[in-house]
Amino acid sequence: MIAATPGRFAVEAVTGGRDGAALARTAIALGAKFAAIADPAGYADLKAGVAGHDIKIASGDASMVEAAVTPADLVVSAIVGAVGLAPTFAAIERGRTIALANKETLVCAGAAVIEAAKRHGAFLLPLDSEHNAIFQALAGRDISEIACMTITASGGPFREWSADRIASATRAEALAHPKWKMGPKISIDSASLMNKGLELIEAHHLFAIPPERLAVVVHPQSIVHGLISFLDGSTLAGMASPDMRTPIAHCLAYPDRIASGVAAPDLAALGKLTFEEVDLVRFPALRIAIAALSEGQGAPTALNAANEIAVAAFLDGRIVFGALPGIVERTLERMRTAGEIPTPRTVAEAMTIHHIARDRASALLA
Ligand code: MG
Repeated sequence: MIAATPGRFAVEAVTGGRDGAALARTAIALGAKFAAIADPAGYADLKAGVAGHDIKIASGDASMVEAAVTPADLVVSAIVGAVGLAPTFAAIERGRTIALANKETLVCAGAAVIEAAKRHGAFLLPLDSEHNAIFQALAGRDISEIACMTITASGGPFREWSADRIASATRAEALAHPKWKMGPKISIDSASLMNKGLELIEAHHLFAIPPERLAVVVHPQSIVHGLISFLDGSTLAGMASPDMRTPIAHCLAYPDRIASGVAAPDLAALGKLTFEEVDLVRFPALRIAIAALSEGQGAPTALNAANEIAVAAFLDGRIVFGALPGIVERTLERMRTAGEIPTPRTVAEAMTIHHIARDRASALLA
């Protein structure tokens, strides 16, 4: 998209996880001035890859922050997991405009992040497809005018499966998402519907909407991504083909519009769009996430951390799919009993809860 609109964007910095060669190719293709790789093991490949080009390079966690605070009109925060929090928060403290795809920034430390964004004049543009659709439908209207904000769920690969079959689903089955091609962590979260729970928490912070006015509806075609129902019953739906290039283009060009390469949904060709109620019995992870959102305080922080541990254990073949929600729920119970989930007022306090939850969830696995 950036390469397709020459002259429109100048890329200051790019980051990558561990594939130094791929990051080098991206940096060269985009004309980036700085390339940072999170895993120092990828540094040698990055260095070899940019040889002969005038690109500054660095590695390690600090380099992610360095990239995030590079002066720019827009910072795209799309690192997966809680490791994305520090660089995103650093950009917020610089008062940047941030296209936010990293859910953990708001799920782990939502109140502290929103407060800091207000204090530093940072602007958060939602890059997650559901939140992006809602942001567009909302068009700056006051939250007091909204009766209900709804995010849609495709239902994931197990939408029509029985509870028993879901409980014993294999890694390959859980990774086979019908609508979106994504990384393993978010694919598992989409299969358990924990992803929708994290998105509700994200929406609560992003739009300052109380949990009781948030809803989820299952919509297998993934054409409607989010809906705003106003007090008078008028409902605006944010629609787009299920392709992340659309929300990415919206965020990159905001408030302008650029071509994303994605065609608008062809409603006549689609024929019908269907909606169904979400089943919290077959998908207990979403039930647990909704309860954590209502509970507030540090519960969403702990929920997210325990889920990270449980998903990693499932991906490693250490637990069955059906054990995921139990690990999260029992971690929350133990932390509640121990008084370990106070409201995190700072990112540091959120990270403390995050690490306690990871330890407690790991202990439950042992
Ligand atoms: Mg999403």
